[in-house]
Amino acid sequence: MSGEVSSLDFAPVGEVSALPGAETGVGSAIGLYARKTAGFDERVARTVEVLKQAAADFGSGALQSTSLGVEDMVITDLIARHGLPIALATLDTGKLHPETLALIPRIRDRYGIDVEVFAPVNEQVVHFVRANGEEPMYRSVELRKACCGVRKLEPLARMLAGRTAWITGLRREQSANRAEVPFREDDGHGRTKVNPLAEWSWADVWHYVQQHAVPYNPLHDQFMPSIGCAPCTRAIAVGEDFRAGRWWWEDSSKECGLHATHTPESPETSGASA
Ligand code: SF4
Repeated sequence: MSGEVSSLDFAPVGEVSALPGAETGVGSAIGLYARKTAGFDERVARTVEVLKQAAADFGSGALQSTSLGVEDMVITDLIARHGLPIALATLDTGKLHPETLALIPRIRDRYGIDVEVFAPVNEQVVHFVRANGEEPMYRSVELRKACCGVRKLEPLARMLAGRTAWITGLRREQSANRAEVPFREDDGHGRTKVNPLAEWSWADVWHYVQQHAVPYNPLHDQFMPSIGCAPCTRAIAVGEDFRAGRWWWEDSSKECGLHATHTPESPETSGASA
């Protein structure tokens, strides 16, 4: 891919709107949250510059590590729209919702980009489940982190091997742990983590989705702003924190260790935009 392209180069908006998750009516996430606020165009322009600079500085060493959440879908749209030579990869933990996995072929159909999928080592999963049961995460924080270790952190390490930079959908607004997220940071493992949406609001994200008919997970329409594995994600209530629906039974930081820079109690690694 090279050169900038317009939305007309992608599937026609009418066609995209007919797909699940591209609703625009009252009750959809777009209807609830999309709003253009002061400085939106400037924030988009800065994000494009951050992405272009990452592509220029890191070349094929840069990777978008996508959780397939709406922020990452916006970044994918920008990568495609501006023809940036940045590869995409995601983690399939074996516990994702079918609606999440359905986005992988939708990205290929819409943007012509393949998403490389990294899954846990089958023997490790079998051993872990035999020893602890299928859903041990509710029994203790230690078992939950052990599950994340097998299903997320190990495949993440393989995903990032040989990469010099990875692009995430972290935003400062997502939680207190992420309030200081910069555009670029050291991930503590010799790589640069690039957070091009650091300064975006939730209204910005959905305004962009509406503006460009970006495909998204229909679970976002069911009050799930942050979507991870099915057993560890629930809808949030009005007034709850963005990440209140993640590991809601724990009194923890609502992080799985993928973004250790912002989660002091999860020092084991760092990784994708979960
Ligand atoms: S989010 Fe839940 S199901 Fe997914 S890896 Fe972590 S503990 Fe396991």
